[in-house]
Amino acid sequence: MSDNPRLGAGSLVIATHNAGKLKEISALLEPYGMKCLSAGSLGLPEPAETGTTFVENALIKAHAAAKSSQLPALADDSGMSVAALDGRPGVYTADWAERQWFEGDAGRDWYMAMGKVEGMLAERGPDVARDAWFSCVLAIAWPDGRQAVYEGRVDGSLTWPPRGQLGFGYDPVFVPAGRDRTFAEIDPAEKHKISHRADAFAKLRADQFGT
Ligand code: IMP
Repeated sequence: MSDNPRLGAGSLVIATHNAGKLKEISALLEPYGMKCLSAGSLGLPEPAETGTTFVENALIKAHAAAKSSQLPALADDSGMSVAALDGRPGVYTADWAERQWFEGDAGRDWYMAMGKVEGMLAERGPDVARDAWFSCVLAIAWPDGRQAVYEGRVDGSLTWPPRGQLGFGYDPVFVPAGRDRTFAEIDPAEKHKISHRADAFAKLRADQFGT
């Protein structure tokens, strides 16, 4: 057991304006008596993600939501890091897909982003290491400033061209270690067992709920 503060049964703000994330996170936490409320439904502002690490960004979002709602709040931050690119795109994973003339996820072009990563690897020559990993950080913050942080990760390698229609984001180029299919070719239920998000949630559950 860690020295982290603990959630009691009760309300927890999920600091995301993404309906998909809210649904997924609520389903994981409601069996433990948590009533999950979305930051969007409470009208909470979205803070700027000015951190340089996943941990910093998750903490910025969790503390902002806890402070304005006066309830415990959980936030996540995730992305993909490529070893040969010194960990990039990392916290800028979503930004690399941004088309300047749109706003929000609808304006993101993941094929452009995957192509950018591939182009940078190709510049480094045919023998470049293709190792990459997805990270997911879950941060819980309390209104009095206490916090708990859980870091999840899944290692793998990048393939080209992209393969598969399932999943989202960079899934079509990411082959998790020990498999030969990309995350976009693996059944989502299977992906959810081995993903960076699953790893972070397992750590949260073990620490917060002892399961
Ligand atoms: P954020 O956590 O919402 O800031 O998103 C970071 C970005 O990382 C997402 O927009 C995705 O492109 C990428 N990402 C995070 N998790 C995954 C995943 O499981 N598969 C593919 N891309 C992911």
